[in-house]
Amino acid sequence: MFRKILIANRGEIACRVIRTAHRLGIRCVAVYSDADRHALHVKMADEAVYLGAAPARDSYLVIEKVIEAAKQTGAEAIHPGYGFLSENSRFVQACDAAGIVFIGPPVGAIEAMGSKSAAKSIMEKAGVPLVPGYHGKDQNPELLKAEAEKIGYPVLLKATAGGGGKGMRIVEKAADFDQALASAKREAINGFGDDTMLVEKYLVKPRHVELQVFCDSKGQGVYLFERDCSVQRRHQKVIEEAPAPGMTDSLRAQMGDAALKAAQAIGYVGAGTVEFLLDADDSFFFMEMNTRLQVEHPVTEMITGEDLVEWQLKVAAGQPLPKQQSELQIRGHAFEARIYAEDPDHDFLPATGTLSYLRTPEENRHVRVDTGVLEGDEVSIYYDPMIAKLIVWDTSREAALSRMAQALAQYRIAGVTTNTRFLKRLAEAAPFQQADLDTGFIERHQALLFDEKGGSYSPNLLALAALYALLKLNHERQQEATRSRDPWSPWHGFGGWRLNTNPTLNLRFALPEQENPVEVAVEASNATGNKNLWTVRVGEHKLLVEGQLNDDRLDAVVNGHHRSIHVADLHNQLTLFTADEQFSCQWLRPDLDSHEFEEATASLTAPMNGSVVTLLAEAGARVSKGDPLIVIEAMKMEHTLSAPSDGLVAEFFYAAGDLVSQGAELLKFEAAEE
Ligand code: ADP
Repeated sequence: MFRKILIANRGEIACRVIRTAHRLGIRCVAVYSDADRHALHVKMADEAVYLGAAPARDSYLVIEKVIEAAKQTGAEAIHPGYGFLSENSRFVQACDAAGIVFIGPPVGAIEAMGSKSAAKSIMEKAGVPLVPGYHGKDQNPELLKAEAEKIGYPVLLKATAGGGGKGMRIVEKAADFDQALASAKREAINGFGDDTMLVEKYLVKPRHVELQVFCDSKGQGVYLFERDCSVQRRHQKVIEEAPAPGMTDSLRAQMGDAALKAAQAIGYVGAGTVEFLLDADDSFFFMEMNTRLQVEHPVTEMITGEDLVEWQLKVAAGQPLPKQQSELQIRGHAFEARIYAEDPDHDFLPATGTLSYLRTPEENRHVRVDTGVLEGDEVSIYYDPMIAKLIVWDTSREAALSRMAQALAQYRIAGVTTNTRFLKRLAEAAPFQQADLDTGFIERHQALLFDEKGGSYSPNLLALAALYALLKLNHERQQEATRSRDPWSPWHGFGGWRLNTNPTLNLRFALPEQENPVEVAVEASNATGNKNLWTVRVGEHKLLVEGQLNDDRLDAVVNGHHRSIHVADLHNQLTLFTADEQFSCQWLRPDLDSHEFEEATASLTAPMNGSVVTLLAEAGARVSKGDPLIVIEAMKMEHTLSAPSDGLVAEFFYAAGDLVSQGAELLKFEAAEE
């Protein structure tokens, strides 16, 4: 076995690999960029080597620097994680040339699967079923369009070098083809440096079911069963589970055999995943093979009891597979939810910021958290928005799902918008519980999954925010009093205003998507002598509140109803975490220079920090409502802004290639007179 390995990655996967390696007594070298100087993976590793500037192309993607780091530290092998260099055949060649073991498949296997088109050709020959489509070399746009016509709309355009749902567009009709092709190609060039496209029949209600395979260098291969990854947004997985609901032994065996056939057709070694689309009638089609460890591998670990990174290390060290097919078994059911820094209620836009407050659920044999971040870390525009994974296991799907919902409620993040509450709604949605899954799940169940309230607020939550503010004021005044020379002055007591002739205190809160601040009027409740009991008025609602604050935990009683919630307070920007909800508001303290919420998304401002990809109209052009005007890219994802109404594009403030900050006005638009 190796004594020392280098992990050519960052975030949760780097941390996860280090954990297993340490358990096996292997020393670990981390690599890092400017953005990751203080990152968790650097702290966990035994040594760390600096690679370069924050953009991955200056650090994590520079083959020479990674190889040099391994040489310099005497690492015998490199684990590539996923993404970055994990499926880069030039990198594998560079490892081979330097005499360093690449923990993954041989160059030939990566090359064979590196292109989705070439992979389809190989699988066709090996007799693995394929989705009907065109995967030829000729890339003439007219020819691609004609092929699309032949296949029949809707079709799916895919970058042959693609991954992570990028460089992919569904095209519903011929009229949309040209723009979709141009946009997919641009994303592909930016993401993968190659804009070759394939065209496929777009299946309308498929499930994404993938098989985990493992092969050793002695020619042995096994499959570690399947994962269902149907729940996706932007063609990217959100929640994965194993085993796939409704899977029969015979279908599992057929798919497992097809997956091993695929692996053997390319002389595979190591961990790989063969992805299939599974149709309602149980027919399945090869989509692609990922020649690396997948993000969702933990669900397989949970149901098999195997550590796949350990398997990878053993196989890379030349050892045989730890188990034979007949020794592998499925136990119970597991889910993985991907915690993304993104805003589900705004089209899953990636979010950035500081993780000023971060609490994760307690880990035990049912709950596992694979995280790459610590409280205080910055989520930047440079890397993937996935910051952690929550994995749960139990003996049945139902029990596991209920654990998932519970654990998600305990996942508390403030400072950066994340999808944790969305995931919880998903875990609790009846159709998900009934396993009525397909890749259109999120689209179809919008009403159930998204926050439709649009600016309304609950008086109860505001009462809780008011209670928090009151207790905090109380605490501050007490501290002031102990510090001052006259601790008994009546002016220190929070009851000070009680003695006033007008015994009402007004608290003000600014709410997102709410133009004016909301006033909460507070009166001390006299009779009981309980100093922490108040009557609060929110609009026409009157609520009796009392409570206690212990750090971030607020034990509250609202109209006799006890509840324990948590509050993150970042300079009076409050986030309340209840069992079901996450509620944010800004407490506008009168003595502070309170800046109120700005309307976050004026229509033609940059929705995120990023860069301008292209302008789709000329300055001075008249456009119609919905016409695309400008494309912004951040975190390798494109976002198109369209004309809010008919009108005139008076001026663009940025050109292609310019960097823009979130909120920056991008262009001057004059709406046409009615
Ligand atoms: P990537 O490598 O970018 O992840 P994949 O080829 O794995 O792309 O496809 C990602 C997802 O896109 C699939 O899980 C599925 O939801 C959807 N998809 C891919 N091909 C098709 C198709 N032909 N019909 C319908 N959906 C598809």
